[in-house]
Amino acid sequence: MRIRSADILRWGRIVAALIMWVAATAGLTSYGMTFPRLAVWIERVQFMPAAMTFGITTIVIWLIVTLLFGRVYCSVACPLGVWQDICSRLPRLRRHLPSHLRYRYSQPLTLLRNISLAFVAAAILLGINIVTSHTDPWKIYSELCTDVAKPIWGAAVNILSYPPVMIAAASLTGTTISIIIAGVISWLAVKNGRTFCNSICPVGTTLGYVAKYSIYHIDINTDKCTQCRKCEQACKASCIDLTSHVVDSSRCVECFDCLPVCENDAIHYTWSRHQLSTPLMIKVGDIKPSGTRFKLDGCTGCSSNPQVNQQNNPQNATISRPSE
Ligand code: SF4
Ligand code: SF4
Ligand code: SF4
Repeated sequence: MRIRSADILRWGRIVAALIMWVAATAGLTSYGMTFPRLAVWIERVQFMPAAMTFGITTIVIWLIVTLLFGRVYCSVACPLGVWQDICSRLPRLRRHLPSHLRYRYSQPLTLLRNISLAFVAAAILLGINIVTSHTDPWKIYSELCTDVAKPIWGAAVNILSYPPVMIAAASLTGTTISIIIAGVISWLAVKNGRTFCNSICPVGTTLGYVAKYSIYHIDINTDKCTQCRKCEQACKASCIDLTSHVVDSSRCVECFDCLPVCENDAIHYTWSRHQLSTPLMIKVGDIKPSGTRFKLDGCTGCSSNPQVNQQNNPQNATISRPSE
């Protein structure tokens, strides 16, 4: 069996994410002295706690990492992001997915993202903790663990082993709020993948602005793409636009799920942008014969590969620059 670089990237990301998530969850839910220290260390590398305490070093490091490699923070370092991946994966474990469980490209919710980010930034500057604590992904996940999972784990420990532990339960209101917020985020993840990450989360929006210009990014080779849509259906961030063959880097969380599903080796994680080998055939929209402008709206299967065009859109297979 041949191991492809796409598989190595994807499995490397999964292993790193699981290590981080297990360490954070164990640190936040366990009793005693050893594991809770893990949670303290992991909190130090989280973006929002650093932003709220003006921890410039952590913020600058993550911005540089994002500028180089995209939103790897969201795939590996954020336990709420990994939790959403687990929730979204569970109903999609079966081999043949029904169509309603396949991901599809969606337009970015730019206005909602910006409003959410502006709201949280103002709350940080004005010190309004109620807003920041309910939009901070680390806080949301740590409250889910400490208010809900930790008391349950403590009760299980007291039944199964000795000596007993002292269960520190949160208030009923705190527990209810934690369950509601985590429940809504988990449900959104089950339905559509990273919806919270790409609509409400202020960290995701901030990193997204930097990731837009990231050096390494997902790129589609339009000469090889057959428009099979397998990558789009695997993308939990709904950010692969196959009409224009562009991946929205501001929403891509560098999970690499789209790479191994492509049977044509047409999608890559790379620093370069693919140049069309026959650019005149795809740039029909730019051609202005006699002052008119062609439009390709509605052409969903266009490719620079004539054979692919023939197969997908027989009517477009012979598009070429008209003589002027
Ligand atoms: S967008 Fe927010 S919640 Fe999602 S993974 Fe990134 S930091 Fe975590
Ligand atoms: S990039 Fe690959 S998986 Fe995606 S549509 Fe093109 S051929 Fe299919
Ligand atoms: S384009 Fe989608 S599937 Fe591919 S790495 Fe980005 S988020 Fe993951």
